Amino acid sequence: MGNDSQALLSVHDLKKSYGSVHAVDGVSFSVPAGTVFTLLGPNGAGKTTTLEILEGIRDADAGEIEMFGSRVRKVTREMKGRMGVLLQEGGFEPYLKVREVLALFASFFERPRPVSEVLAEVSLEDKARAMVRHLSSGQRQRLALGAALINDPDLVFLDEPTTGLDPQARRNIWAIVERLKREGKTIVLTTHYMEEAEALSDDVCIMDHGRIIAYGSPRDLTAQLGQETWIEFDAPDLDPGAWAGLPGEVRRDGATATLKASDLVTALEGLLSWSREQGAPLRNMTVRQPNLEDVFLSLTGRRLRG
Ligand code: ATP
Repeated sequence: MGNDSQALLSVHDLKKSYGSVHAVDGVSFSVPAGTVFTLLGPNGAGKTTTLEILEGIRDADAGEIEMFGSRVRKVTREMKGRMGVLLQEGGFEPYLKVREVLALFASFFERPRPVSEVLAEVSLEDKARAMVRHLSSGQRQRLALGAALINDPDLVFLDEPTTGLDPQARRNIWAIVERLKREGKTIVLTTHYMEEAEALSDDVCIMDHGRIIAYGSPRDLTAQLGQETWIEFDAPDLDPGAWAGLPGEVRRDGATATLKASDLVTALEGLLSWSREQGAPLRNMTVRQPNLEDVFLSLTGRRLRG
């Protein structure tokens, strides 16, 4: 069990199988109050099942959960009252108006927040009288988030909050999550977008096949790949010997070459002279730090998406 007395939620050796599929296979983590915690992994990694157990939608086969300072044998109504839940499939009645959906959710709780306050929080004031069926997918997702926040929860579960949204709609959701964190809420989210995990999370668990394969802050996780800066460019068609002249270790992955540089200036100077000597143009060159996708790739040999 997590010994962190500040943890609002901790999970120890959680397990859940569906027949022979070990969907969650011994997962442990601890979420300090007021932080954003992310389960990052490809489809089928076991993220949703983990969340559904914590939300009280599914029973675990084994494991211990501590939430709001108490050991959880069964997720109680009182615990649910302190939770906000954004499910992956949040289908609302298409002919209800936005305000009516929030009023309906408010009616489930003893002391809900005023609907108008929640409308403002998710920037849907001007859509209050619009029917659900006339909302864009981003607006629908903000409505679902509003419904999850109507009871002023301390702990908010967001299952893939931005899947399928365009970049602007995704950023709008990110802004709301950041605001919730500033208000002191504790947020547990799942995603298969590494940019999302990197942008929002204090801690990330990278999951694959029901297990946690890496756990830590985004910075700590990427630091495991070394402190080098990566210079990437399209790999030109060269004799194998020509690559030896590059100023450092180079990795080629399909059409992309990656040069790992501990001293960026020296590496760039060397790379430019190499390019001139070889007559090899450096197309699509980018300079970047390793990211969570690289961590996943180095641990599994696969990419998070695709
Ligand atoms: P996704 O992003 O696709 O939801 P996930 O990481 O959330 O992926 P889960 O939905 O938890 O993963 O699924 C984990 C594994 O359990 C998968 O192999 C999935 O097919 C299986 N699974 C999930 N729900 C059920 C169910 N009700 N019955 C049988 N198998 C299930």
